Amino acid sequence: MDNPQQRPQVLAPNYRQAQFLTSASKVSQCPIDQGWEVAFAGRSNAGKSSAINSLTDNKKLARTSRTPGRTQLINFFALTETQRLVDLPGYGYAKVPMAVKNAWNKQLENYLRQRESLRGMILLMDSRHPMQPFDEQMIGWALQAHMPVHILLTKSDKLKKGPAKSTLLKLREQLSEHKELVSMQLFSALKHTGHQDLIAVLNTWLTEASVYEDLEPISES
Ligand code: GDP
Repeated sequence: MDNPQQRPQVLAPNYRQAQFLTSASKVSQCPIDQGWEVAFAGRSNAGKSSAINSLTDNKKLARTSRTPGRTQLINFFALTETQRLVDLPGYGYAKVPMAVKNAWNKQLENYLRQRESLRGMILLMDSRHPMQPFDEQMIGWALQAHMPVHILLTKSDKLKKGPAKSTLLKLREQLSEHKELVSMQLFSALKHTGHQDLIAVLNTWLTEASVYEDLEPISES
């Protein structure tokens, strides 16, 4: 009998236990597609490494760099045997040739479309310049895949309270027709603002019953 109440409960992970697992330069090199995964995406310099480092309380985990576009690999971090954080390649580094950029775009799209263990995407945008073309493209891909997106408006400490709040409200308004799948918040790795809200979203995504399990008919036999 498949009673959802009797399925083994998946516990929220301890983000401080994140450990580097592997890097992949294409989807075929990714770890076995099982369990729960949340991907972090953003333009280069959006503050992705800083956010992952502060979430995991590990300054060395995702290398923070002042040089944008330092790596073009998908990095996997294990939280438990079945739960992972994924650091997607930053985008927007001018020195990368167009052909390489296009090839990377394709791999990113493949990953977002094909990865069954992917439960949601954290999309980081500098709160001073939200919704650049790359951000819109990522949201478009996620919506096509019916995957939830949670936007972090990063470096919120660089804005005064009023402008920060109005940036958030404006973005919420702009994306209101997708509110079932798209949520957003202010975030500062520097001031540790917004951590609890981010953790609440991650905990939900990393413990939810699989969408595929949910679609299975409940058998009484
Ligand atoms: P990534 O390229 O998206 O991984 O961005 P990084 O995490 O390397 O950050 C890019 C730059 O923004 C670095 O100089 C960081 O120190 C700075 N930065 C990141 N997060 C914050 C923040 O919350 N507040 C401020 N003031 N600066 C930040």
